[in-house]
Amino acid sequence: MWFFSDEDRMLQQSVRQMAKADLAPRIEALDHEEGFNREAFRKMGELGLLGIIVPEADGGSGLGAVAATIAMEEMGAVDASTTLSYLAHLILCVNQIAKNGSSEQKSRYLPRLISGEWLGGMGMSEPEAGSDALGMKTRAVLKGDHYVLNGTKTWITNGPVGDVFYCYAKTGEGRKDVSTFIVDRGMKGFSTGKKFSKMGMRASPTGELVFDQCEVPVANRVGAEGASVSMLMRNLDLERVTIAGISLGVARAAIETATRYAKERKQFGKPIGAFQQIQERLAEASAWYEACRALTYSAAKMWDEGLLAGREASMSAARAKLQSAQMATQVCLDAIQILGGYGYTREFPVERYMRDAKLMEIGAGTNEVLRIIIAKQMLGEAADAGKPF
Ligand SMILES: Cc1cc2nc3c(=O)[nH]c(=O)nc-3n(C[C@H](O)[C@H](O)[C@H](O)COP(=O)(O)OP(=O)(O)OC[C@H]3O[C@@H](n4cnc5c(N)ncnc54)[C@H](O)[C@@H]3O)c2cc1C
Repeated sequence: MWFFSDEDRMLQQSVRQMAKADLAPRIEALDHEEGFNREAFRKMGELGLLGIIVPEADGGSGLGAVAATIAMEEMGAVDASTTLSYLAHLILCVNQIAKNGSSEQKSRYLPRLISGEWLGGMGMSEPEAGSDALGMKTRAVLKGDHYVLNGTKTWITNGPVGDVFYCYAKTGEGRKDVSTFIVDRGMKGFSTGKKFSKMGMRASPTGELVFDQCEVPVANRVGAEGASVSMLMRNLDLERVTIAGISLGVARAAIETATRYAKERKQFGKPIGAFQQIQERLAEASAWYEACRALTYSAAKMWDEGLLAGREASMSAARAKLQSAQMATQVCLDAIQILGGYGYTREFPVERYMRDAKLMEIGAGTNEVLRIIIAKQMLGEAADAGKPF
């Protein structure tokens, strides 16, 4: 992007190198067997990527949303699965502890999460509360010096492999009576339930978190009781801006693969790139990708500069994610079409790109939910849409 600083460009290069050395060689096998590249997190820790958005005073790199989005795009272009796990660790867990945690919580958790010794995740979604996140049923009841949690979280990225989870639970009867608890693997009454087998993002383990009379010390509650909704919503906005970076990375990889193929593959005695219908697909893909890139990095830059707040920030993040996610899925489908039969096989990575890209139309707010957020902001009271958030 034209406004990237020298520091941003250096970051881009170092993440690109790391992705080539530490992600690329393993992703095909991990995608096949639904494995997990845990070692990459230690490497990310050495490079300062696991605390990239955390203030230096808290042991992080002190950068912002633009830097985090660059990291997502560069890793996403190689291995979207590990990048999704990185996003859950960095944006949903580490950043939330840094932003909202007490100094005691920060000093207990951040050093090991930022070094890569511990892996983090976030528990919000439940079997009966997905888009309607505030309809969550997990409850936390205060008993002396600890809370007792009961309930199940589902679809949790890093659930099967994580050490620390930033979890939301109801502490009252109202929709907004939501509190946050840092839950460690090993706490009494906490277990990770089943791991899901998925069509894409297969090297990012997804599973359940189960709380059965789980005892969480009061010291692990983040912020005041019942005061978590605004922190949760603000974090969703940041998640949407940065996850759009994964869509950008996947789309870029698909466009590069399809362009290379269109130059090399010959039919009817000429490269298929000579055919206008192939050119049209590539040109449309390139234009849509660049438009989404401008939209996403502009949203990230506005976030870093503090130019937007409240619903305007939510709308900006929703626009970036909505367009980037749809763009990536379509571009990957077009890449498959350009590669013909080869595109449909595992001989080329475009079928993986397409399977991975689809997730970004569902996770962190579905396309439908994002359209509601945007339309609500445009239409105000006149909007007749539902109000999931
Ligand atoms: C791979 C993966 C990783 C994930 N990681 C995490 C994680 O780390 N932590 C976490 O908490 N969650 C995570 N999620 C959950 C994710 O955020 C939810 O899947 C998502 O919010 C949608 O919820 P749902 O799946 O229950 O779908 P539902 O909410 O049941 O939606 C089903 C369909 O109905 C539509 N719909 C719902 N409400 C409306 C409405 N008002 N108007 C119009 N259409 C509507 C939806 O758009 C969708 O098309 C993950 C999900 C996946 C698949």
